[in-house]
Amino acid sequence: MTEQPQKTLHLASPRGVCAGVERAIAIVDQMLERVEGPLYVRKEIVHNQAVVQDFRSRGVIFVDELDEVPSGASVVFSAHGVSPAVRDEANRRDLRVVDATCPLVTKVHKQVVNNADKGRHIVLIGHEGHDEVEGTMGEAPDHITLVTSEADAASLDIPDDRDVYHVTQTTLSVDETRGIVEELERRLPDMKGPAKSDICYATQNRQDGVKEMVARGIDHLVVVGSSNSSNSKRLCEVAEKAGVSANLVGSIDELDMNELCQKVNIGLTAGASAPEHLVQGIVEHLRDA
Ligand code: SF4
Repeated sequence: MTEQPQKTLHLASPRGVCAGVERAIAIVDQMLERVEGPLYVRKEIVHNQAVVQDFRSRGVIFVDELDEVPSGASVVFSAHGVSPAVRDEANRRDLRVVDATCPLVTKVHKQVVNNADKGRHIVLIGHEGHDEVEGTMGEAPDHITLVTSEADAASLDIPDDRDVYHVTQTTLSVDETRGIVEELERRLPDMKGPAKSDICYATQNRQDGVKEMVARGIDHLVVVGSSNSSNSKRLCEVAEKAGVSANLVGSIDELDMNELCQKVNIGLTAGASAPEHLVQGIVEHLRDA
């Protein structure tokens, strides 16, 4: 009988929820204790289906827009932030707002406002339609251009006499935006941007964690995260780019045990919106398999 090789599970570090997501989840938890009557949350509090379903089962009502919230009710703004138009609407409708916007996202909003006030044009590097991008663009809609790719950066049309300041969607890594920033810098050598110390490195650090495991020789990567979490999908891509297969799983049920049976060194990580209890559930499941 051939002996089965010893299987090893490597846990990435860092992995899982970033500080902004942890804070947003804690805020909704606390509000559930305090608020009498229904608690509304505008947009998904974080991009994780398990978190959203758990809150839903505890009575939280998720809405896309504030017109779905009755006047006077309590509403939480998600970790991704909102535009001033949304804040104004909440005031007009007399809603009781609890703002769970990550402080680092708020910092980006302030950079946009301050630099637009100085007469600069803002270039935002991000994904079209992302909740965070919509909130950030709303801070200075007439002075901001969204750039989603190097091609966008190459064809950007800004008058020569305008100073330009760039900001980035916080859930993109430095690696992902490097090409775009370089193209912008080539075209706009005087372009300004945030200090290195003002950038959130949560996504970059989680991608570096995957690269480290790849270097240690994993032959498969499992990423815990939801399909609408772009930073979780990127973790799969980082592994795949290095020639290592990867799967994104939202829960234990989505593990492909047939595939995992053929792997020896399995890496496990989680996107910035996936709580650690999901990771530990998968660790236990694989240990018992
Ligand atoms: Fe905040 Fe960074 Fe997490 Fe964005 S990725 S929510 S900025 S900690």
